Amino acid sequence: MHEQTIWLPLRATAFTEICEACEDEHAERGGLRPTVSGRLPIHDRSGWATCPRGHTMRVLRMGGSMPAGALR
Ligand SMILES: [Zn+2]
Repeated sequence: MHEQTIWLPLRATAFTEICEACEDEHAERGGLRPTVSGRLPIHDRSGWATCPRGHTMRVLRMGGSMPAGALR
């Protein structure tokens, strides 16, 4: 399983994203897309989120110190 990364805009403190690992498993079943929601305090640069089925993903805040090309 590859590691998922969620990029948060500079001022965002909450997010809801698709869990790619769940989506892969549910692709053939259809239905609601599996999502993961979480919060990141405004002064934190990174954190972790866990979807309802236990997949872990990194949460990183976009910022001026981010290395060039990090979003490719
Ligand atoms: Zn998941």
